[in-house]
Amino acid sequence: MLNIVLFGPPGAGKGTQSEKILKKYNLVHLSTGDLFRLHLNNETSLGLEAKKYMNKGDLVPDQIVISMVEDKINKSSNVIGFVFDGFPRTINQAIALDNMLEKNNIPIKQMIALKVDENELIKRIKNRAKTSGREDDKSIDKINNRIQVYNEETKPVADYYKKYNKYSEVDGIGEINEIFLKLCSKIDDLN
Ligand code: ADP
Repeated sequence: MLNIVLFGPPGAGKGTQSEKILKKYNLVHLSTGDLFRLHLNNETSLGLEAKKYMNKGDLVPDQIVISMVEDKINKSSNVIGFVFDGFPRTINQAIALDNMLEKNNIPIKQMIALKVDENELIKRIKNRAKTSGREDDKSIDKINNRIQVYNEETKPVADYYKKYNKYSEVDGIGEINEIFLKLCSKIDDLN
């Protein structure tokens, strides 16, 4: 089993790089942002609840996120590994993920962080706003709030994985393919 957490602030390129990793290594994408947006589009009760937080750039409460991830993991069969993208975003979520995976004896192999500075993040998100249709990309206040929430609540999750010697990082600035190659070399080292 090759379970990886792709980590980094909003706009770091997790979605873009995940797509490439999935194809190369035959893994399953578990993006909580994508799952929430699917619920939002389908106007499910979960989507309507999550929308209240997402549109402001706040985190959806842990219990809602954790149940959704557990459900997705339980429904996936014949998986050789997951790429977790946008999850875990709090220490509580990291602990819950460990418990879920422990039950199935398939621990996280590595968290790989994409390092991108704040100016570049803001530039990328503003650019993405032109086509994403995402409410949380639309205003500088929402973008700044997401970065602040990342710094306060999500960054400490890296320390959680560092403690278990499961943390590494890659420079997230440069050509998409060049970054992908650096990620691949980290992943290949895990096998
Ligand atoms: P980005 O990383 O670009 O901000 P995502 O697509 O990962 O965007 O997430 C969009 C929004 O969905 C977040 O701002 C948050 O409201 C919600 N969300 C996604 N994943 C989580 C999570 N693990 N915990 C709490 N909220 C989440």
